[in-house]
Amino acid sequence: MTAKDADKATGVPSPLGGGPGLGAPGKTATTCTTCPYCGVGCGVLATPGPDGVEIQGDPDHPANLGRLCSKGSALGETIGPEGRLLAPQIDGRTGSWDEAIALTAAKFREAIDEYGPDSVAFYVSGQLLTEDYYVANKLMKGFIGSANIDTNSRLCMASSVAGHKRAFGSDTVPGTYEDLEEADLIVLVGSNLAWCHPVLYQRIAAAKAARPNMRVVNIDPRRTATSDLADMHLAIRPGSDVALFNGLLEEINAQGAVDAAFIGTHVAQFVETLETARRDNPSDTGLGMDELEAFYDLWVRTEKVVTVYSQGVNQSTSGTDKVNAILNCHLATGRIGHPGMGPFSVTGQPNAMGGRETGGLANMLAAHLELTDPLHRAAVRAFWDAPRMPEAPGLKAVDLFEACADGRIKALWVMSTNPAVSMPAANAVRDAIAACPFVVVSDLFADTDTARLADVVLPAAGWGEKSGTVTNSDRTISRQRPFLPAPGQTRPDWQILCDVAAEMGWGAAFTYSGPAEIFREHAALSGIAGSLGRDFDISGLSWITDTEYDALQPTRWPITASRTGGRFFGDGRFFTPDGRARMVPVEAKPLASPSTAEHPFVLNTGRVRDHWHTMTRTARTPRLSQHMAEPYAEIHPVDATRLGVRPADLLRIASRHGHLVARALITDRTAPGAVFVPMHWTSAWASDGRVDVAVAPKTDPVSGQPELKATPVSVQPYRPAWYAFAAATVEPNDQVLPGIGYWARAVTDTGWRIELAGDITPVCWESHAKLLFGAAPDNATVVLTDGKRGRTRVAVLGADGATLGVLFVDREPVEVARTHVVAGLATLSAPDLLAARPGAEMADPGPIVCACFNVGANTIADAVAAHGLTTIEAIGEATSAGTNCGSCRPELRAFLLPQIDKVAAE
Ligand code: SF4
Repeated sequence: MTAKDADKATGVPSPLGGGPGLGAPGKTATTCTTCPYCGVGCGVLATPGPDGVEIQGDPDHPANLGRLCSKGSALGETIGPEGRLLAPQIDGRTGSWDEAIALTAAKFREAIDEYGPDSVAFYVSGQLLTEDYYVANKLMKGFIGSANIDTNSRLCMASSVAGHKRAFGSDTVPGTYEDLEEADLIVLVGSNLAWCHPVLYQRIAAAKAARPNMRVVNIDPRRTATSDLADMHLAIRPGSDVALFNGLLEEINAQGAVDAAFIGTHVAQFVETLETARRDNPSDTGLGMDELEAFYDLWVRTEKVVTVYSQGVNQSTSGTDKVNAILNCHLATGRIGHPGMGPFSVTGQPNAMGGRETGGLANMLAAHLELTDPLHRAAVRAFWDAPRMPEAPGLKAVDLFEACADGRIKALWVMSTNPAVSMPAANAVRDAIAACPFVVVSDLFADTDTARLADVVLPAAGWGEKSGTVTNSDRTISRQRPFLPAPGQTRPDWQILCDVAAEMGWGAAFTYSGPAEIFREHAALSGIAGSLGRDFDISGLSWITDTEYDALQPTRWPITASRTGGRFFGDGRFFTPDGRARMVPVEAKPLASPSTAEHPFVLNTGRVRDHWHTMTRTARTPRLSQHMAEPYAEIHPVDATRLGVRPADLLRIASRHGHLVARALITDRTAPGAVFVPMHWTSAWASDGRVDVAVAPKTDPVSGQPELKATPVSVQPYRPAWYAFAAATVEPNDQVLPGIGYWARAVTDTGWRIELAGDITPVCWESHAKLLFGAAPDNATVVLTDGKRGRTRVAVLGADGATLGVLFVDREPVEVARTHVVAGLATLSAPDLLAARPGAEMADPGPIVCACFNVGANTIADAVAAHGLTTIEAIGEATSAGTNCGSCRPELRAFLLPQIDKVAAE
C-alpha cells in the first residue's frame, strides 16, 4: 500500500494530494516553497519576474497561513547574484570541479589512512536541507566510520534534544503550533519570539486579541519586544530558570495540582524529583514573592498552558537541566499531548529539526536511533550496507574545533555555516580552522570569515535554486522548491557530498537520481526506526514517486500507514524502555563563569529583528539593514552613569577570550550589571563587531551546548579622538583608511552608510574623504569646518557634479539626521546634504522602524501626538507602519505609551 492509499484508508488528509505544488491558482509561474530562515518554517510563494522575485506568504501553509515577517518578506532582495561564488576555489585560484573533488577526496583519504577515521570532521548547518543532511551523515558515520559530524544546531537547541531524551526517551516535540492558539496561558521562557520567531509571535498576538482572557508570561532577564505583549514579565537572574521551575513544581504539589493518576501510570521519578526541587530556593531568581506567587498561581490554576522555550534556556551550561525543570512541571500535571497544553521547544534554524531526524548531531545516529545502541547500529549498518560504523559519539562543536586546534583533526569540511564568527571564543576557532592542515568550505560566498580560511571553497546552490525538504519546530515537513536556475557551476550540497563519496570509492552507495530518491531512502530508514520503537517514522512516504515528492504538501510527522501528524504523549505512552516518562531531578547551579572584579558584567547575546545569523544574506538588502545599522550594546542607565557612558558612545567589551566594540544603547530593558549584544555582525560589516570572540567556550555537560547568554566581561567607553558618519553612493574604502579605530557599514537604498571612529586625527579631512569614497585628488569638494568644535563636513563630488559621498566628523558622537542624509544623497545638493537637517518643508522620518514602508520613529511619534492615536491599528492607518509583515508591531506599542498615559491621566 502506498502512503496515498494509506491516507485514503485512514481518512487522514493526504500529504501527496495537493496538486503539483507549483503555482497558486492563476499564477503558473509561482512556486510554493519554504522560508530559509527561522524554525517557524513559513510557506512562501515565490514568483520570478522581469523585476526580480515577488515574495508572498503562502496562505495555505499551516505554519504561517499567509503571514511573513520582515526577513521573509525581503527574501526576494537577498537572492541576487552579487558576490556569489560561481566556481570552485583552490588555494585562492579558480579550479575545476574535478580537481576540487579529487583534492578533497584525496586529503580526507590520506588523513583517514594515516590517522584513522576520527582525524576528519564535518561541521554542518541547520541551513542544509534534510536530503543534504542525510547524505552527509551517511558518508561520515557509515562509510568514513567516524561520528565526527556536528552541526551549528548544537549552538541552538542541543539542550532541548538532551532534555527530551532524558524525559521522553526520544527527541520528540509533543505539541503543534495550534496549541499556541488554543492555550489559555502561554509562558515564554528565554524566548524573544517577537524578533526571533515573529510569525509565531503574530499568531499568539492574534489569538490573544481574539481571546483577551488568554494570558502571556514572559520570563527573560531582559525586557524585549516580546515582553510588551506579556501580562507579566519576570526578569529573572541569568541562569536561574531551574530554581524558578523547581519552585513551580513545589507549588504544583502544594496546591494539589499533581495529576496522580497520570504520573501513577505514565511517569517515573516523581518523588525524588520533588525532593530535589525542594532544595532550591525560588528567591534565587531575584524575583519578589509577589511576582513568584502570581506566576505560580496562574500556572497552577490554568489547565491549558503551553511553555515555549528557546535559546535563553538552551544556550546554557545547565541548559539540559533547565529543559527538564520545565518538562517536570508538565509531566507532574499531565499537561502534555492535549490541545492547548505542553512544553514547546522552538528551534532557531529552518532545518534544525531535519538535522535531528537525519542524525546531524555527533551523538545521534539517524532517524532518532541511538549511536550507542548495538541493535540500532546494526540496523542502520545493514540498511546502508556500510563498511564500518562508529560505536561512540563524535566530537561536539566546541570539542571539534578544539580538536582542530590541538592537531587531532587533519581534514575539516564546513558546510553552509560560519563558525569563525558564530562559535564561542571565535578568535580561537578562527585560529583553529587556520591551523587545520586541510579545510573545505562549501557555501554561497567565498568571502565569509570562515571561507577565507579554507584551502578549497566549493560553490553551493542556494535558496531558490535547490530542491529538498525541511522540518520546522512543530514537526511539519515542507518542500523547498527551486524557482531559479543554479548560477555558474554551483551544485546542491547533497550532490557535492555524493561526488566526494564516489571519488573516495563509495559511489555505489551514493548514486542518487535526485533529492526524491534520497528522501525515499531516509523515509525507509525511519520505518526501521519505527519498527524499533522510535518516534520518528515517516515510512508512509517511503514509496512516493518523484512526481509525488514534487507535489508533497506540508505534513507533520509521524507519517505511517496508520497515522499522520497529531500530538505525541496524549495517550501517556513514551519512548522509554518501560513506556513511562521520566521526571528528572535537577538542581539550580551557579553560572559556570561568575563575574569577577576584572569582568563584572554579564554578557548576553541574541538576535535582532531584521538580520539572520552572520548576515551573509540579510545584510545585502537595504530594507533589512536600516532597522539596526551597526553593532550595539544595551547597557542599563545606572551602569552607563557609573562608567560615564553617554548615548551613542562606543563601548569596548572584553573578556579573557577577546573583545568587541559596539555602539552604546542605554536602556532599562537590560538589567544593571548586564550587557546585551547581537550575534550577527562579522568582520565584513564591522571592524570589531563579532560578539562571539568574547564568549567563553563553556558547555552544558549533557548536551554540549555552549553558554552564549552569560559570559563575564568588562565594559569601558572607547573614547576615540574623532567620530564620523558617512553616506556614499559608492562602496566605501573604510577598511583601508589610515588611523581608523572603528568602522561599521550597511547598505542603503542610495548606496552605503558608514560609522567611523579613530585615534589619530588626519591632517586633511578633505583628502581623507576622497580616499574614503575612492575619488581622485582633483575631484571637487564642498568643505565646512568649525575648528573650535572640531567639526568638519565634506562632500565629495563626482566628475558629473553629483555627490559621491558626504562625511561628517566630530569630536563627539556625530549628531546628524542619518535617515535624511542617506535618502537625500539621491536628490539634495551637496550644501543641503551638509546642512544635515531637513528644511521646514521636509520632515526627518528618524530611524526606520517599519522596514516594509520605510516609516521612521519621528513620523510615528508625530502621528501619535498629532492624532491622539492609542492603538497599533490607528498607527497603521495613519502611517502604514506595521500593516505588511507586522514585525515592527511590538515596537509600535512603545510609541503609544505616552498617549495612553495622557488619556489615562485625563
Ligand atoms: Fe521566515 Fe520570518 Fe517565517 Fe521565520 S517567521 S520562517 S524568518 S518568514
